[in-house]
Amino acid sequence: MLASRICTILPPMDESGALAVAALRSIAAKAFKPEYWRVPPFRAPHHTASAVALVGGGSTLKVGEITLAHNGVLFFDELPEFSPKVLEVLREPLESGYISISRASYQVRLPARFQLIAAMNPCPCGYLGDTEGRCRCSTEKVRQYQARVSGPLLDRIDMHVNVSSLSDYDRERLLKGNQKNSENSEEIRARVTQASARQFARAGKNNAFLSQAEMRKHCKLSSEDEQRLKQAMQQFKLSTRAFFRILKMARTIADLDDATDIGRSHLMEAIAFRFPQQSGASFPGLPPGQ
Ligand SMILES: [Zn+2]
Repeated sequence: MLASRICTILPPMDESGALAVAALRSIAAKAFKPEYWRVPPFRAPHHTASAVALVGGGSTLKVGEITLAHNGVLFFDELPEFSPKVLEVLREPLESGYISISRASYQVRLPARFQLIAAMNPCPCGYLGDTEGRCRCSTEKVRQYQARVSGPLLDRIDMHVNVSSLSDYDRERLLKGNQKNSENSEEIRARVTQASARQFARAGKNNAFLSQAEMRKHCKLSSEDEQRLKQAMQQFKLSTRAFFRILKMARTIADLDDATDIGRSHLMEAIAFRFPQQSGASFPGLPPGQ
């Protein structure tokens, strides 16, 4: 439910982005809907969809879901149920924003710059860590299930968040919709749009697309915080990719905070998003630990 709402808090696409999305829908023979003009696409393919349907290709070229999600959001529910082959193919577009497809009769490079959101259960039955102890999965079964998602793919996901199940009490409060500190999508979108505008004013692009040279200029840390990040790298054996992704995430958290410089709390929050168990990250709008 949270994933499907994300487009309601994203800023509208600019005109060239919207034209690209319309052109890609046109090649895929999908209807153009004027009411969705400039609304970022949201694609949520089922895990039983074929590799061609997801990635694109085929004997006569078909545009895949990852290309239809260009400039928008690609949502994979039940991530470990997707074919490991398809998941590995995602690594290329997640880095470059393109998918290259080679067949005997053609070679193409299609745009596929999407924001990936994935959801998975902690174990096959879904109850691991449940306070009522309902999980009956063996340690080996849990390990096998979690290993279906490879380390290199997880490394390319910036925010890992544990979402605990809702108690009846939480559910009632959510339905009433009168929680303290709750924001509606419009309000959140205003904050996201402002943070994005700050990024464009500073670097002419969103933080996600900063080059390493641009990061040296725009994602400076105090020498003490730089030391702290290096320590975390060693302690948690983080990759160089994770290092740069954490910096960009910290810059984004600082932008949402309207801060000129990346502060300690921004950096620590960005690092914590790599380790959901330690971060205390929880269902938005509920107090920590809920
Ligand atoms: Zn289980």
